[in-house]
Amino acid sequence: DSCEGTDFIREAIIEDLKSGRFDHVHTRFPPEPNGYLHIGHAKSICLNFGIAQEFGGKCNLRFDDTNPTKEDTEYVEAIKEDIRWLGFDWEDRCYYASDYFEQLYQWAEELIKKGKAYVCDLSPDEIREYRGTLTEPGRESPYRNRSVEENLDLFRRMRAGEFPEGSRTLRAKIDMAHPNVLMRDPVMYRIIHAPHHRTGNKWCIYPTYDWAHGQSDSIEGITHSICTLEFEVHRPLYEWFIKELGIYAPRQIEFARLNLTYTVMSKRRLLQLVQEGYVRGWDDPRMPTIRGLRRRGYTPEAIRDFCQRIGVSKYDGVVDIALLEHCIREDLNKRAPRVMAVLRPIKLVIDNYPDGQTEYLEAVNNPEDPSMGTRQVPFSKVLYIEEDDFREVPPPKYYRLSPGREVRLRWGYFVKCTGVVKDPQTGRILEVHCTYDPATKGGNAPDGRKVKATIHWVSAAHCVEAEVRLYDYLFTKPDPDDVPEGMDWRANINPNSLEVIPNAKIEPSVQGAPAGTRYQFERLGYFCVDPDSTPEKLVFNRTVTLKDEWAK
Ligand code: ATP
Ligand code: MG
Ligand code: MG
Repeated sequence: DSCEGTDFIREAIIEDLKSGRFDHVHTRFPPEPNGYLHIGHAKSICLNFGIAQEFGGKCNLRFDDTNPTKEDTEYVEAIKEDIRWLGFDWEDRCYYASDYFEQLYQWAEELIKKGKAYVCDLSPDEIREYRGTLTEPGRESPYRNRSVEENLDLFRRMRAGEFPEGSRTLRAKIDMAHPNVLMRDPVMYRIIHAPHHRTGNKWCIYPTYDWAHGQSDSIEGITHSICTLEFEVHRPLYEWFIKELGIYAPRQIEFARLNLTYTVMSKRRLLQLVQEGYVRGWDDPRMPTIRGLRRRGYTPEAIRDFCQRIGVSKYDGVVDIALLEHCIREDLNKRAPRVMAVLRPIKLVIDNYPDGQTEYLEAVNNPEDPSMGTRQVPFSKVLYIEEDDFREVPPPKYYRLSPGREVRLRWGYFVKCTGVVKDPQTGRILEVHCTYDPATKGGNAPDGRKVKATIHWVSAAHCVEAEVRLYDYLFTKPDPDDVPEGMDWRANINPNSLEVIPNAKIEPSVQGAPAGTRYQFERLGYFCVDPDSTPEKLVFNRTVTLKDEWAK
């Protein structure tokens, strides 16, 4: 069920194998360890690992760790865990761009010696200013024509730590009038006096993405370097470095990144959501991160299915989050055991049921999968039902319980409402009273009479109490950037994305369920045990409701 089918990337690979450009397939997934993986990364993971599997090839995990101030080992471990959880395996091929720092340095000296790179003393602002624009050519740096000897000397002293941060760069010497702005003497190294999470204080010059990425691909023998569309304009530079060095040439292919409605995907914004307290952390079930989705109750199978369904294209688009929800519903419908839970309880007292008696009713665990068997649900005189399932004055087309009306209790009996008990002061309904028909056990009347509604319930004396967290979208608009002028995306944050129900009542079969256990609460949706649960009290997250907005 991984990422099959054909698309322009797979077609290009088939072409390359046919033409003999490559005789095998070797891809890589190259995260920067500066944040947690999100559903967009899952698309790239499914693509890279999936293609390797389909073509009998390999896929490396490579940490693109060229930016010491933003990166951390904590992220490295989290990223590995998330990829494994998604169901993919890099085996013994976990690499780091930082493993190649020495090789990259040697290659940089080679380019200097060839007259293809120079040390530049312009500040970052000046470099930007000299670069020109799409319509205007750039200007050459006054340092562009330094001799090879001077460049080598300065570059070695940059490495030795003689110069302050930001004072110098190493730049490729290409063409300041090149129509592609990225080819106008791009920066290869910058001075950063900061320890790196793996190389410590060994380096104070760090390669840029453009200088590190293609060479890392080449060192690892990557055949197809699959990346997102914004790198299409970097491809000429990718190819330029490889050609100038005369090293093995992988092929870069770009695809459109995943965007989803009602959420944000950039790591910078996700970090803001965490730091500014809009969510409880990177694994908050509202986050589009892999760990957020996992905590929410998503399965790896559903995420992989989603990635396969969205496919890959060359055009940026936005995927409806309803499709992601559809995928988890489909998966859980097949797999999640059903239980009964009451979120907003009201007491239902069966006046003609014997006091103190308990009987056990047989309930089917999953009508979609008979092999999941049945369970015994305790039933007694006092039950809880949803507040919503009773109306003293029923509106038109309301068929659930109301005075004089008969309904079916799921897996149980027909009950007929006889009246209510109210708080004499407030008028609030405290109890709904009813009688049951013992002949309707199992849900059918021998005399053939019908009821129009079936409602769920739990036995008050037997149920467990749990906290239930209901989630709504993080944003109030499909496009979080759709804001009035002068405001930013945070103006669209949904203030009601979390609703906590402190004391839901759930049938006792859920007792002791470990974190991560998934259920369907009948009529309410799919729910998953949260790690915040204690032996005394379970906490559930609603993964998704039952109502499918996609299949409609
Ligand atoms: P951000 O812009 O949020 O910082 P990034 O692309 O810099 O994300 P990386 O860690 O560099 O994050 O990404 C690792 C890989 O995942 C890259 O190959 C990148 O192209 C891919 N990727 C990241 N975001 C998406 C997305 N939304 N859809 C598809 N692929 C993505
Ligand atoms: Mg980034
Ligand atoms: Mg990146």
